[in-house]
Amino acid sequence: MLRSVLLWLSRNKTIRGLITGLGLVQRAAHRFVAGETVEEAIQAIRELNAQGITATLDHLGENVETAEDAQRATEDYQQALDAIGASGVQSHVSIKLTALGFDLGEAVCRANVERLLVKAREIGVLVTIDMESTEYTERTLALFHDLRRTFKDVGIVIQSYLYRSEADIVTLCQAGAHVRLCKGAYQEPPVHAFPKKADVDASYVRLMKMLLSPGARANQTFGAIATHDIKMIEATRQYAQQQLVPRDEFEFQMLHGIRRDLQKELAADGYGMRVYVPYGTEWYPYYMRRLAERPANIWFIVSNFFRH
Ligand SMILES: Cc1cc2nc3c(=O)[nH]c(=O)nc-3n(C[C@H](O)[C@H](O)[C@H](O)COP(=O)(O)OP(=O)(O)OC[C@H]3O[C@@H](n4cnc5c(N)ncnc54)[C@H](O)[C@@H]3O)c2cc1C
Repeated sequence: MLRSVLLWLSRNKTIRGLITGLGLVQRAAHRFVAGETVEEAIQAIRELNAQGITATLDHLGENVETAEDAQRATEDYQQALDAIGASGVQSHVSIKLTALGFDLGEAVCRANVERLLVKAREIGVLVTIDMESTEYTERTLALFHDLRRTFKDVGIVIQSYLYRSEADIVTLCQAGAHVRLCKGAYQEPPVHAFPKKADVDASYVRLMKMLLSPGARANQTFGAIATHDIKMIEATRQYAQQQLVPRDEFEFQMLHGIRRDLQKELAADGYGMRVYVPYGTEWYPYYMRRLAERPANIWFIVSNFFRH
C-alpha cells in the first residue's frame, strides 16, 4: 500500500514542487545521490575506485517535455563523459531514454543517444540504457537492438518483475548483449508484472541463470547482477561456482548509498562490483522510488525531524 502511494507520488508534479522544497527531504535524499555537480560525482567514483569498486554514472532526470530540455540533458551527459575521460576514473554511464526526449518521438531521442554513443566509444565507456515503465519497454528494446548494429558498447536493463522478461532474455542472450538484471522499480499492473515478491525473486534467479549459462556466455553475453538482496547474491555466487563462470564474465551492481558493507565485501572477495552513481538536481522521482523500495527509509526523515 505505502509502496503504491510512494510510486504514485514519484510521478506527481504538483506534490513534487512541495516535497523538493523541504530542506529535511533534501538532506535525506543526499544519502542516495552523489551531489549536484559532475565534480562531486567524479569524487564519489574516485572513492569507490580506491576500494576496488567501479561505477556507472547517471545524470538524474527523466520524462523531459521539450526538445531543449532533451538537448540540455544530452549536453550534461557529454560533460559527464568528458569528465570521466579527463579524470581517468573507472566508470560506465547509465542513461534514461525519457531524459533524452523519448516522449517527443524516437527521432529526437535517437539523435541524442547516438551523439552520446559516439563520444562514449571515443573514450571506451559502455553506456547502459536504463529500463523505465512498461509504457516504454517494447520501444526501448527495439531501439537498443537497432543501436547495437552500429555501437557495440551499449547495454540494456531487464526487470525480473515482468512476465515478458524471460523471452527478452532469450533474444538478448542470442545477441550476446550486455544485460543488467534488476527486479524493477516502477508501479506495474498484474497484467504486466508478478504481483508477489516471491514470484519476482524466483524470476530473478531464473533469469540470472539464463544470463550466466554456458550458452549465453559462448555468445559473449555479459550479466550485470543488480540487486542488494542477499538471497539473489548468494544464488548467483552458487551458480557461478557450479558453472565455473570466470569472474570477468559477470559482475554485481548496487545503488549509491545502499548496502555499502556488502559492496565492499563482494569487491574484497574478488567479484566485479559496480555502483550506480546518480548526480544532479532532478533527484525527486529517483529518490521516491528508493523510498518505495524500502518504506522504512521514511523513518530516517521522521527521526531527523524530531532531532532538529
Ligand atoms: C545498479 C542498479 C541499477 C538499476 N537500474 C534499474 C533500471 O534501469 N530500471 C528499474 O526498473 N530498476 C532499476 N534498479 C532498481 C531495481 O529494480 C530495484 O528496485 C532495487 O534494486 C531494489 O531491489 P533489490 O534487488 O535490491 O531487492 P529488494 O527485495 O527490493 O531488497 C532487498 C534488500 O536490499 C536492501 N534495499 C533495497 N532497496 C533499498 C533501498 N531503497 N534503501 C535501502 N535498502 C534497500 C534492503 O536491505 C532490502 O531488504 C536498479 C538497481 C540497481 C542496483
